[in-house]
Amino acid sequence: MAKRIAVIGPNCVACGRCVKECPKGALSICKGLRAQVDAEKCIGCVKCERVCPAAVIEMKERQVAKDEAQKAVV
Ligand code: SF4
Ligand code: SF4
Repeated sequence: MAKRIAVIGPNCVACGRCVKECPKGALSICKGLRAQVDAEKCIGCVKCERVCPAAVIEMKERQVAKDEAQKAVV
């Protein structure tokens, strides 16, 4: 399992470029508003980060990404 995974920032413009680029099908556009990452599928290849025109994709340690997602829910 990849150590680092892609995390999508709040300023995603839902252009879909990252979705097309991901070799694992880990990305999708959620409700037409924002890209989301399936952490189980992401292999941390960084391809999405390279093509994002809005530069909102960041690679983070898997555990950090998990903790932040949990904090966002609380
Ligand atoms: S880092 Fe690679 S595998 Fe993970 S979401 Fe981006 S393109 Fe897909
Ligand atoms: S490439 Fe960037 S702006 Fe476009 S959908 Fe993906 S994360 Fe959002």
